[in-house]
Amino acid sequence: MSTHGSNGTTSTTALLSPEALDSALAPLVAALGDRLLIPSAAGFAETAAVFMGGPERAPVAIARVRTTDEVAAVVAVARDTGLPLAVRSGGHSFARHGLADGGLVLDMRLMDGIEIDADAGVGHAQGGVLAGAYSTAAGERGLATGFGDTGTVGITGLALGGGIGYLSRRDGLTLDNLLGAEVVLADGRVVQANADEHPDLYWALRGGGGNFGVVTRLDLRLRELPVVTGGMLAWAAEPGTLATVLATLAEAPAELAGMLNVMVAPPLPMLPAELHGKPLVMALVCFAGPASGAEAVFAALRAPGTVFDGVREIPYPEMFAGGGPDGGVFAEARPGFLGEGVWAPDEAWAAAAIEAVSGASHGPAVVNMRPMGGAIAGVDGASSAFAHRDAAWMVTVQGMAMGPDGVPALREWVTSASDTLGVAGRGYVNFMTNATEQDVRNAYPEATLARLREVKRAYDPTNLFASNHNVTP
Ligand SMILES: Cc1cc2nc3c(=O)[nH]c(=O)nc-3n(C[C@H](O)[C@H](O)[C@H](O)COP(=O)(O)OP(=O)(O)OC[C@H]3O[C@@H](n4cnc5c(N)ncnc54)[C@H](O)[C@@H]3O)c2cc1C
Repeated sequence: MSTHGSNGTTSTTALLSPEALDSALAPLVAALGDRLLIPSAAGFAETAAVFMGGPERAPVAIARVRTTDEVAAVVAVARDTGLPLAVRSGGHSFARHGLADGGLVLDMRLMDGIEIDADAGVGHAQGGVLAGAYSTAAGERGLATGFGDTGTVGITGLALGGGIGYLSRRDGLTLDNLLGAEVVLADGRVVQANADEHPDLYWALRGGGGNFGVVTRLDLRLRELPVVTGGMLAWAAEPGTLATVLATLAEAPAELAGMLNVMVAPPLPMLPAELHGKPLVMALVCFAGPASGAEAVFAALRAPGTVFDGVREIPYPEMFAGGGPDGGVFAEARPGFLGEGVWAPDEAWAAAAIEAVSGASHGPAVVNMRPMGGAIAGVDGASSAFAHRDAAWMVTVQGMAMGPDGVPALREWVTSASDTLGVAGRGYVNFMTNATEQDVRNAYPEATLARLREVKRAYDPTNLFASNHNVTP
């Protein structure tokens, strides 16, 4: 079988001749059969698609693996042929790192096994599991591990970068609950990384992203969570209202977490018609416990007067009921961190945020805010490669364009709004659309980056795993 594309979908940067490519991929054709997709195969384009749209990146093949041995086989082909390698799980990378132009995509999505060990309080998930599926499986036992706010995000990509979500202020980041992992290394070895085995790799995996190998299994701490009180709240965006809501979230008990968007109201039927097209504050919040324990904090959040209130007592997995937004948009995002400890921006900052989203001409524009603190701040900063534990807020200025023509205006808006709002200089890899050397430096303090490089030299000295916020050896 000839494995090179024949229909114009071939890579924009052909690295091997068609014959050399056929011979490079032959072991994978033998091992995976029709689970090795080439550009001429039915379903190739759908399988290649990632959440974020963007300039074409055309892989030469997608390997849909089912076992750790198959992962090792794909890694060996990339290592031995020099084909660029992209590893993807949920495909939600803001920087579209799940696509390798002219290279191989290692697609983990068929490795979706989940085992909930309620007695040990540990969830075992294969490397392609999504947040919603895991949360449903754990929720059936009244248990949970905290991820983000969207069920279709891959837990491996999320956990390796951080994982800020509904339970972070009570339980820490997702990576704080990563007890161990099985990893296929660049040289083909399969190792366990945890506090006792390969502790340097275990440290680097937690915050250093996909730089060190392919994670085929995660072991995650489970906590009891029979019920939560959560859902959507929305307010008309006035500076005083926004500042009050932010102060309430900053001072809330650690059981409360979530995210808030300052945005222009879309024409949704659940919002008053007179607000459509006007500035809106929309929050998705979750209190880890029954409504009876959450009355005071929700009373404070409701005090400025909501225009939508969907908060109710629900099983935790229902927080992911919507699945997630549609993909395919061209996004630009600049994440940063603001303040320290228990702190919230004042009314002047709130007014600037509202003005920024109101003045965006390119299309949807959002200032996304996530309260930090609580258990995130309680973890020793040296225990993982994630920085920024002291910050009061993670703030991402982001926007969307529906096609490439809108991207320059979008970029200009994101840069100018994030500068105005002081959101620059400290980055979160999971929300970065850009992945320059400077972006990587923004994500890690100097000493952390130096230590990550040391681990990289030990486990991936040739930088085989480079389709990520790359820590160079
Ligand atoms: C709609 C949406 C909502 C989001 N919400 C949140 C949120 O609430 N909180 C938050 O913290 N983040 C959130 N994110 C960001 C998300 O955590 C990152 O985009 C993350 O990288 C997605 O992981 P993935 O597996 O889906 O993506 P992929 O694109 O599949 O993977 C991203 C990168 O992770 C690495 N990787 C993935 N799988 C493996 C593996 N098995 N082994 C080794 N490396 C691997 C690779 O470097 C890969 O390029 C959100 C993103 C989107 C698009």
